[in-house]
Amino acid sequence: MELRELGGTGLRVSAVGFGASPLGNVFGDVPRDTARAAVRRALDLGINFFDTSPYYGGTVSESVLGDCLRHAAVPRDRVVVATKCGRYKDEGFDFSADRVTRSIDESLARLGLDYVDILHAHDIEFTHLDQIVNETIPALQKIKESGKARFIGITGLPLSIYPYVLDRVAPGSVDLILSYCHYGINDTSLVDLLPYLKSKGVGVISASPLSMGLLTDNGPPEWHPAPEQLKSACRAAADHCRKKGRSITKLAMQYSLMNNEISTILVGMNSSEQVEENVAAALELSTSGIDEELLREVEAILEPVKNLTWPSGIQQV
Ligand code: NAD
Repeated sequence: MELRELGGTGLRVSAVGFGASPLGNVFGDVPRDTARAAVRRALDLGINFFDTSPYYGGTVSESVLGDCLRHAAVPRDRVVVATKCGRYKDEGFDFSADRVTRSIDESLARLGLDYVDILHAHDIEFTHLDQIVNETIPALQKIKESGKARFIGITGLPLSIYPYVLDRVAPGSVDLILSYCHYGINDTSLVDLLPYLKSKGVGVISASPLSMGLLTDNGPPEWHPAPEQLKSACRAAADHCRKKGRSITKLAMQYSLMNNEISTILVGMNSSEQVEENVAAALELSTSGIDEELLREVEAILEPVKNLTWPSGIQQV
């Protein structure tokens, strides 16, 4: 598995990262043996980056990921573990200094770790961004100084949140951003922000190359927030691939992996089979390239919904 530099952190992460939200049963129940096997297989195939959050499955994802890593008996310095703070299933959003400071201790206990490599403020568009700038980031800096997190990140859907925050915090206080659903076949809008992020020295993680299930044969979960027009176009693209005996998922993974300015593509996985398929897609990309003809056909099907997204967060004033 190809390793890429993670911004200016000095970390090297696998181009395919393991999104652990499915381990919180958010896309359907995952038996513990299946979860352990998926994580073990990922490690064996060279995936070293794992992403979770207290929000996923109401803390279940963190606990299960911690269990899976312990079960795999992987040395701590061989994996890069990211979790988040500020978004909770039962409590909603709380980015106060007090809450995020308690949050990291709770996360470390669930994960069974002494430190995480990355701590993100999770979906910051759900609070006033000035709170993130003035209260949350300074609190995360203190957590970083305590050694409980090595690097600090911010995540969320609207791309405008990133320059808003990064233009107002001290250089170096945010190491990474995690964007989702903005770098895949149907939506490439993250690309416009890459030069700015580079100029700020901020590393880029892109999540959800399958648009949270839109670009799969099984389709999205019921809670998926996309407008119906986007869902039906993605369904049509998946049908087209299936009729040709191809996989929309493989094409989508490969498409997202092609941009080397993005350090890692986080894909949610809940079985060894999915791990094997996604790693195989990455390896095939590096040896044979992408299927250009199929890509052009799928891009044409998705053209009417290109960069179509959905609202997320509160009105910022
Ligand atoms: P995704 O686009 O990665 O899609 C995940 C879905 O695709 C799951 O149902 C999974 O089982 C399925 N899948 C994966 N590989 C497959 C394969 N080979 N064949 C068929 N189906 C396959 O969406 P995601 O899981 O939401 O995003 C990836 C990860 O990124 C998350 O798990 C999470 O860690 C992170 N993320 C973070 C944020 C945030 O911080 N705000 C938002 C979204 C995602």
